[in-house]
Amino acid sequence: MFDFSEGKRYNSFVGYFRKVYGERLQKIVLDAGFSCPNRDGTAGVGGCTYCDNAAFHPGYSTPGKTLRQQMDEGIEFHKGRYRTAEHYLAYFQAYSNTYAPVEKLRELYLEALSHPAVAGIVIGTRPDCVDGRKLDMIADIADGMLLPDSGWERTVGGKPLKKPVVVMEYGIESCNDKTLRRINRGHDFDCAQKAVEMTAERGIDTGAHFIFGLPGETEEMMKDSAETINALPLRSVKFHQLQIIKGTAMEKEYAEHPEDFTRFSLAGYLDFIIDILERLRPDLYIERIAGEVPPRFVNETPWGLVRNFELLRLLDARLLERDTFQGARYQPSLSSRCQFSLSSRLHPAMSSRAQSRDLPSPKTGISQKNKK
Ligand code: SF4
Repeated sequence: MFDFSEGKRYNSFVGYFRKVYGERLQKIVLDAGFSCPNRDGTAGVGGCTYCDNAAFHPGYSTPGKTLRQQMDEGIEFHKGRYRTAEHYLAYFQAYSNTYAPVEKLRELYLEALSHPAVAGIVIGTRPDCVDGRKLDMIADIADGMLLPDSGWERTVGGKPLKKPVVVMEYGIESCNDKTLRRINRGHDFDCAQKAVEMTAERGIDTGAHFIFGLPGETEEMMKDSAETINALPLRSVKFHQLQIIKGTAMEKEYAEHPEDFTRFSLAGYLDFIIDILERLRPDLYIERIAGEVPPRFVNETPWGLVRNFELLRLLDARLLERDTFQGARYQPSLSSRCQFSLSSRLHPAMSSRAQSRDLPSPKTGISQKNKK
């Protein structure tokens, strides 16, 4: 078995920033007032059939407040919960956070980075909302080229950090074009693949979200998507079980065609996630295994009120019981376009510019000598 850190049987994202930067970095969710091309008619109307953005972000982040206000309130909110966090990542989460002219985006990202407690930004967006110019600008921020002349430096983990942490997060949701059409995503998988590759080529840390349980997808189809995910130059993944939000088009579709949906029991989902983990590249960081929409927004809570930390504890216990681990059934030959070296932090798609970037080197926590 691989020697994963934190005593886990999978490559947990928890503790990733502490490992890389020597300190926990807590995300503060921001609503910078962006819209979404899948709602305003540019890519589609009505949005994705499962979407209600109000269900996805906390009360302190509302577009009526300035970014500074949201960051200050977010820091206060988290201080009570995680006393160890001294620095934060400004998480542009609501709607599509690259859906504006490049000049406007630069202004907003730099505004977030001007907060003295903010050590970096995480940008959540749709794959069809990026282009070379926007990604070049984001890579320039990551390289420290757009930071104020007066200088930008934070002391993180007792060491000077001269360039901010920059992470892109793409909503991919499904690797299956038929599903993407059915949920009205307004883009196909090819678009997602290109966006991830263009981002990784620029040396920007890249993560992606996927939803399990979308209509028309069987468990086998979902498990098969692990090979497609392996082939993408991603650093991290977030998995969500489909939670059907009240008032959405999907709630109606579920009421009319429940037979088209795979609904997981808690035990069934844990086993399913383990089947996925077994197929995944062992160096892919797992940031989340399930979503946690507040119960008032969802049309059913089949698992009761299980919090994420409890779910992770159950996952650990089940992995032990099954005596398995992330990558146990990983077959590099099936991920033909992606041949990550386990000791390397960079995907081959990343350019020489990325290779030369002077960033702290994350430890994958993977020791090949301990392979079974
Ligand atoms: S792209 Fe995001 S914000 Fe836009 S409709 Fe879909 S889920 Fe909602």
